[in-house]
Parts: sequence; C-alpha cells; structure tokens
Amino acid sequence: MDQAAGDHPEGLGAYALDALGPAEAAAIREHTARCRDCRQHLDELAEVRDVLDGVPLEALLDSSSDG
Ligand SMILES: [Zn+2]
Repeated sequence: MDQAAGDHPEGLGAYALDALGPAEAAAIREHTARCRDCRQHLDELAEVRDVLDGVPLEALLDSSSDG
C-alpha cells in the first residue's frame, strides 16, 4: 500500500466524457490504474454518461422556442 492518498485528479468527469486531451487522459489512466476509488468513480460516471447519451439534447437545454 504505497500509493499517495488524497491526490485524486479532478478530470475524471471530463475523462469519462472523452473531453480530455491525450496527455491528460493518459495521466488519468495512470492514476486510475492504481487508485481503486477513482476507478469506481469512473464506473459511475460511465453509467451517467450512458444515461445522458440516451437523452436528447433538447431535453437538457431549456427549449426556448423563438418564433
Ligand atoms: Zn484517485
């Protein structure tokens, strides 16, 4: 157990959404490879992303009909 605790990256959400650059994504991967907490968190984020994937963008945005 020689992992630095309390040093979690904040880009997990963006990583789950594939919104990170290759360098940042690599850093997240390196961290999650050691950090079980973040891996679990990523799992949850992936589920959320799946749900959001099935939701039409119109449902997320405030549909302001201009006309
Ligand atoms: Zn972590």
